[in-house]
Amino acid sequence: MKFQSKTEIHYGQNSIDYMKTLNAKFAFVVADQLMVKLKLVKKVTDLLDQQSIPYEVFDSIEPNPSLETVRKGLDRIIKTKPDLLVAVGGGSVIDAAKAIMYFCIKTKEKLIETDAIRKPWFVAIPTTSGTGSEVTAFSVVTDTQRHIKIPLVNTMMIPDAAILDPEFTRTVPPFVTADTGMDVLVHAIETYVSKETSDFTDIYAKKAIKEVFTYLVRAYKNGNDMEARQKMQEASCMAGIGFTNAGLGVNHSLAHAVGGLFKVSHGRANAILLPTIIAYNARLGNTLHSVAKRYANLAHELGFPASTDEEGVRSLIAAVKFLNQELGIPSSFKAHGIDPQDYRNQIDTMAKNAMADTCTPSNPRKPALEEIKSLFETVYKP
Ligand SMILES: [Zn+2]
Repeated sequence: MKFQSKTEIHYGQNSIDYMKTLNAKFAFVVADQLMVKLKLVKKVTDLLDQQSIPYEVFDSIEPNPSLETVRKGLDRIIKTKPDLLVAVGGGSVIDAAKAIMYFCIKTKEKLIETDAIRKPWFVAIPTTSGTGSEVTAFSVVTDTQRHIKIPLVNTMMIPDAAILDPEFTRTVPPFVTADTGMDVLVHAIETYVSKETSDFTDIYAKKAIKEVFTYLVRAYKNGNDMEARQKMQEASCMAGIGFTNAGLGVNHSLAHAVGGLFKVSHGRANAILLPTIIAYNARLGNTLHSVAKRYANLAHELGFPASTDEEGVRSLIAAVKFLNQELGIPSSFKAHGIDPQDYRNQIDTMAKNAMADTCTPSNPRKPALEEIKSLFETVYKP
């Protein structure tokens, strides 16, 4: 058994000042157009200027970064040979930087004789509170020609340092705060009930869950509530540490499958699925699955009625539904606006994809294909 948490975490107001302590010969900054427009990239490059560190900004990362973009980034890295890599952005930007790093390491393995590139010090500055990508070993890139998502897993991709400065999340619009915040909750709950969970991951998962229930609605209703913003950033990071060690579950498998075919954000798909997945995992026919105790334990810790496991599970489901409602998240994919015929036509494909998803093996219940299909039916119209 193993638990790993290698990223230095700099957090709180003005934690961006950590950049002032870095020494580098050349920095490569990965971002997207929005980060440039919001002047968040400038905040970083101003600090590099102050220290006379030359840099190049690679700001063409698109949502769901493509293999092609990653290749372009890799070309620039090979040419510029930075000793500092900084990613400023949401999950897509950090994932792209990680993928560039991944291929950089693979290329280096091939070019080891020539010592063409060295692994740069990798700093991630997340601008949304959701993916936890700043501390995980995962990245997803899209092969746009073959229409498939390529999951990459390698501990070498884990950033060396993360800067959780709430100022960088201030401009996130309410619906993104809601969707990404619910993604944090799903990461933490799936970590807590995962087959691979441990006493170490429990600590991170439980704390993240409590923070989400305390601060997410506040951050959603008032984006300038910097205490809530900071707590959500921390919760996202803690949940990331949890799931990079314990894995996720079928909530994510189904969300990936729906998100691959329909227009629904990753966090929102997860949020819509969560009540149904808790109910599915907790119940085996007329009896409770042993994992029900874990859900009930969470309900109890959150202060919801949980005198029996049955009641605890029900309370947790009700609390998640209520939280979704407060955040303006629809209760089903139908309410989200997915066409019924299109959805029905894709259930078989989505179920197959969900079964094959990398998140499925760590789910507390091993699902059958027919069960997955019926879960897709249920979440369309609960
Ligand atoms: Zn997620």
